[in-house]
Amino acid sequence: MIASLLDIPTDPPSAAVAYAAAGIRVFRVRPDKAPFANCARCRPPTEKRPNPLYIEHRPEECRCTARTCHGFHAATTDVELVKQWWAEQPDANIGAPCALNGWAVLDIDPRHGGDQSLAVLEQRVGVLPGTVMQLTGGGGLHIVYRTPGVPLPGTLGPGLDVKHNGYILLAPSVHSSGGRYRWSGHGRFLQPPATWPAALTPQQGRRAA
Ligand SMILES: [Zn+2]
Ligand SMILES: [Zn+2]
Repeated sequence: MIASLLDIPTDPPSAAVAYAAAGIRVFRVRPDKAPFANCARCRPPTEKRPNPLYIEHRPEECRCTARTCHGFHAATTDVELVKQWWAEQPDANIGAPCALNGWAVLDIDPRHGGDQSLAVLEQRVGVLPGTVMQLTGGGGLHIVYRTPGVPLPGTLGPGLDVKHNGYILLAPSVHSSGGRYRWSGHGRFLQPPATWPAALTPQQGRRAA
């Protein structure tokens, strides 16, 4: 965990390296979000595409030397690998798995009523603790907390999703609307100071939705 503000370069290849060097696990996401293909040993066979090379395994147990398989499970802090990935695909966006980086993220999408859902939620549980925030470039907002280390619900209301087992894109990735992701404040990244609110954790005995 770093405690200091991290300046984020404005181009994704350099920014990806900066994140990795700061200990944040990143992986490539194509601009159209089409996943990078798994290697032959990691690609499960389908009816149309048999694959005798496939070795059955769970993504988190992959021992593959390609080191690019299984989407966000390939995320790494290996600066040399990150440099290589973005040299191959300079316009790739920067994905970061949430739980694997110690984060739980509230994803607010006003286009689907997320701001309304947040207002309703805060009426019920009180104003959420302040922490690190990222503007998504599409008018949305990420509120980034430290993970509570327990399973979380996938959504807390319309337009109000929880990114925990999944991933988010990091600044300066480009949103599908054309805008760039940006850290709130001075555009610099800080590890979240606040843990996911207990009031939003089902295991605490309060239903979250
Ligand atoms: Zn593989
Ligand atoms: Zn694999």
